[in-house]
Amino acid sequence: MYQTVVGLEVHIHLNTKTKAFCGCRAEFGDEPNTNVCPVCLGYPGVLPVLNQEALVQAYLVAKALRCELSPRTLFDRKNYFYPDMPKNYQITQFHDPVGRNGSVDFLSPDGTVKTVRIHDVHLEEDAGKMIHAGDMSLCDYNRAGYSLLEVVTEPDLTSGEDTEAFLQSFQRLVRYLGVSDGNMEEGSMKCDTNVSIRKAGEPLGTKVEVKNLNSTRFIKKAVEFETKRQATALDGNRTIVQETRLWNENRDVTESMRTKEGSLDYRYFPEPDLPPFVPDKAFLQAIDGRLVELPLARRTRLLTAFQLSKEQADFVTESRFLADFFETATGTGGTGPAAGQAIANWLMGDVQKELNHFGLTLEASPLTATRLAQLQALLDSGRIHIKIAKQLLVAIFEEDKDPERLLKEKGWEAITTEEQLSPILDQVFAQHPAVVEAIRAGDVRQKGYLVGQVMQATGGRATPGLVNSLLAKKL
Ligand code: ADP
Ligand code: ZN
Ligand code: MG
Repeated sequence: MYQTVVGLEVHIHLNTKTKAFCGCRAEFGDEPNTNVCPVCLGYPGVLPVLNQEALVQAYLVAKALRCELSPRTLFDRKNYFYPDMPKNYQITQFHDPVGRNGSVDFLSPDGTVKTVRIHDVHLEEDAGKMIHAGDMSLCDYNRAGYSLLEVVTEPDLTSGEDTEAFLQSFQRLVRYLGVSDGNMEEGSMKCDTNVSIRKAGEPLGTKVEVKNLNSTRFIKKAVEFETKRQATALDGNRTIVQETRLWNENRDVTESMRTKEGSLDYRYFPEPDLPPFVPDKAFLQAIDGRLVELPLARRTRLLTAFQLSKEQADFVTESRFLADFFETATGTGGTGPAAGQAIANWLMGDVQKELNHFGLTLEASPLTATRLAQLQALLDSGRIHIKIAKQLLVAIFEEDKDPERLLKEKGWEAITTEEQLSPILDQVFAQHPAVVEAIRAGDVRQKGYLVGQVMQATGGRATPGLVNSLLAKKL
């Protein structure tokens, strides 16, 4: 039996308004070659200027990944010729990355928390986009120079499932930090996946690098495919060739792209146009100030505090916004497991349903955490029943008003006293004298009919217990 070994090189586009070394707009979907200038087009004699926000975000990620932060970070030129990079070199960090020797935890699908070591975190720039059409190739340099953060893991992952879970967890992490939307389909997160296999106790095997993977699902499949392919090769006494392979999403296989004949010579040398960056105390304090509770820690805390199920805990920590919403709603509506369960159930059930129905996101919806807490408080106090609560939720979406105000305007408050209910019962009795007589003569099965009539007459606002007891009294 072989063990799978996976190491990742994850790239994320940082959340900056402008590119890494010039003032061009960092926005996708714009007309090709409109967000360009002499710097990112590599004209002779121009000078790069480092984007401070990119640097802050790079350090922030390195810190969140428990890296040793570089006290002096430097940029290097990686020289190569390819039309997607008009300067003929990429500015990256080779000798002094922002962070090294970190680690990060993730929740494995087997239920345990696992740790992946981080080799380094470095800041670099993206290349342009090439579009190959027939015998022509078109270049769009809008993306050239976009700030890109590369996170290199040690080969610590051991299955396709874990690799997928790790990447989803990493995605959540960068979103929580607000440094990237981490969207693989749109290319703001990319991942080169290195896979090898070995027998237990043996040293690491020869790896292949798989590219062209634009979803975590494909990465899982690619790892599983490679494990099988390499096992078949080794079992057939063939050796694994160190190479780069491409994922073919139509056939669910990896295909050889190029074999690595040793390491390419990029002639790395320090970028002479950018001074080293030495973070001072204020810079490091600012980083600390922007660090947030990470998704896994938050999930664990909420799961314990509110005794949530795993599904509930996953759901409410899906985004930082949702987790904040959940905590605000439970905080105002009373803390403890009961409040947590109630709010989680709302969010996963009816709120989700109404969001779909109205085509809204929670962020953009009229339902605030305070309003949800108020709705739950009305329910807890017995002033409304669950059916009315659901109606009120819809009304909040429709009218964008507080639940208390809607309750008054709609007259939906529960009927909880005999004085309120008694005249309604009298009215129902008067309308159905035959039924009342039949019950009095012993046909108790017909009671349900009367209860139904009372509920209808009150629009479902009468407390069922009260209806039953008062009915018995009057009969
Ligand atoms: P290279 O010199 O080919 O770039 P590195 O040692 O720098 O290789 O590692 C690049 C990536 O490959 C890292 O994410 C690392 O974890 C991963 N990796 C290295 N060796 C292996 C291996 N034997 N199996 C799986 N992944 C590996
Ligand atoms: Zn530019
Ligand atoms: Mg390497």
